[in-house]
Amino acid sequence: MIDSLSEAALIKAQTERDKRIATLREQHPELLGVETALLQELSLLPRALTRDSEGNSSYPENTLEQGLSRLGRLRKQRMELLESLGLPDDYAAPVYRCPVCHDRMVIRRGDSWVACECFHEQRAALGRERAGISQRMKEQTFATFSLDFYSDECLRGEQESKYSRALKVVDACQQLVLDLVDAKVEYGLYIFGNPGVGKTHLVAAMANSLIAEGIDVRYTVSSTLLVNIRATYDKDNSEATGNEGYILTDLATVPLLFLDDLGVERFTSWEVEKLYGLINQRYLAKLPTVFTSNLPLDNLEEEMGPGGTATRIVSRIAESCRVFLLDGEDLRFHRR
Ligand SMILES: [Zn+2]
Repeated sequence: MIDSLSEAALIKAQTERDKRIATLREQHPELLGVETALLQELSLLPRALTRDSEGNSSYPENTLEQGLSRLGRLRKQRMELLESLGLPDDYAAPVYRCPVCHDRMVIRRGDSWVACECFHEQRAALGRERAGISQRMKEQTFATFSLDFYSDECLRGEQESKYSRALKVVDACQQLVLDLVDAKVEYGLYIFGNPGVGKTHLVAAMANSLIAEGIDVRYTVSSTLLVNIRATYDKDNSEATGNEGYILTDLATVPLLFLDDLGVERFTSWEVEKLYGLINQRYLAKLPTVFTSNLPLDNLEEEMGPGGTATRIVSRIAESCRVFLLDGEDLRFHRR
């Protein structure tokens, strides 16, 4: 990780630099004088190399050699002046966002140019913005996912412990990421369990890994998605961005969609229809979707909403997803 400046920090540093230079030149007019003369001399140089139709040059010095030697004297004068003032010769250098590549985004490695780390960081930041990944979710990676809160005790009547189940979910999430980086995958995941057991953390970890690989993903909480779609019908709502068609087409065609918290609230039949339309479109296009829910798939149908459409949603999920239970202690109470 390199320390690239944020937009605000960059503007602040540039403003401070400009002020510092202006004050210095005001306090030391001789510095302004020599630097102005240098710039002037440099700007005249091209004239030494061009002639008009009559073969005359507009270069004020007699010869290029004379001009270059005057330039050399001015440079030396400036260096001596800077030294006497205790200033480095790059005191007026621009402020760069990235200290490594000076904002060129590429760096020299051996004989070739490679992308600087800041390029990857900027691409990831853009990817997160498009995906709907919040600042908090940005920190939620596989590396920060702890299995400590999943008991390895095997309860009576159970084949495996919560720890072993959690391990399988993490494996499945990592496998999906690897498969997607490798090629197109046709299966999704349905991860269910009580609130606060780490489902959204794993979703964020998958999203962050894929975004880092340059793969486009979208994250949305299902109730928020429906609120956004409903808002596009509200003509008086100036907050509404895009239209229903755009929102749904975007979500229907993205390589991976995360639909968080399915079935948390009961939907109207109109909402269930909209949701089914989206899920079915992705199913037909063989594009993977990762769902999270508090409910086992069997209970989702009755909790989600009325009618046969909810049944069809559940059957689409069952046909296309690997289903996992994630049950640990509520992690929210373990965090400070
Ligand atoms: Zn850089």
